[in-house]
Amino acid sequence: MKKFVGAHVSASGGVFNAPLNAMEIGAKAFALFTKNQRQWVAKPLDEETIAKFKDNLAKSGILPKHILPHDSYLINLGHPEVEKLEKSRAAFIDELERCVQLGLDRLNFHPGSHLVKIAKKDKENLEVLQAIEEKCLDVIAESINIALDRTNSVTAVIENTAGQGSNLGYKFEHLAYIIERIEDKSRIGVCIDTCHMFTAGYDIRTREAYDKTWNEFEKIVGFKYLRGMHINDSKSPLGSKVDRHHSLGKGEIGLDAFRFIMNDNRMDDIPLILETIDETIWKEEIELLYSFVQ
Ligand SMILES: [Zn+2]
Ligand SMILES: [Zn+2]
Repeated sequence: MKKFVGAHVSASGGVFNAPLNAMEIGAKAFALFTKNQRQWVAKPLDEETIAKFKDNLAKSGILPKHILPHDSYLINLGHPEVEKLEKSRAAFIDELERCVQLGLDRLNFHPGSHLVKIAKKDKENLEVLQAIEEKCLDVIAESINIALDRTNSVTAVIENTAGQGSNLGYKFEHLAYIIERIEDKSRIGVCIDTCHMFTAGYDIRTREAYDKTWNEFEKIVGFKYLRGMHINDSKSPLGSKVDRHHSLGKGEIGLDAFRFIMNDNRMDDIPLILETIDETIWKEEIELLYSFVQ
């Protein structure tokens, strides 16, 4: 087997519950939050919790390279205000350290937001906006460099976004811009979310569109940086820049794109993670995806 499909499972009650929750839905991969994603501070992982996590992980047979922890939603590595940027950077380093403690090798995060409200209409504004975005991407790259310098072994995995609000990372060029500025390229990667890529304007619904989009990805970012994917259908249409996930086959993307992915060897051996909206059908969605493999 070359494809490793799972879902972003609950870690409620303790991180050690995540591998058990993954097993229950027949997952061969999973994502989790290693702390409450809506709080800045979490109590450190104690020895017992870490041991229980490793025990349950061994029972599940899932390998660390097929686990894609996600950082807290509060963190903004491109924050324009110094104090809040420092808080985000410290929290991000803490997240990386928690991964090291759990024996995990990658951490998935959203690049960051510049928080400037600006109309995208006239040309003058467009130039101003581009300058603001570039400055924010520089701050994000610096944040990652600092974090990688202060930690060991874990790869920072940047997720593409839908481009809602002032969130950056909605263009492959944004991901490439950040990667270019990372000093240790062995510890930087990307996670591509199908819903985000689609609502950002990258079509994957037909064979032709799928090939065109991924050829562009290869040219601008490169498959060598692909460390995971989020497998979601989308409630919002192509290019809408609105991030609303949907269950597979029920949204605007449709099933063909997922069939292509399951038969694309460029997505072998990385975590393929469902973040679809109805967790009661994750088991069926995982089975459905595996049924696509030819
Ligand atoms: Zn995602
Ligand atoms: Zn999303």
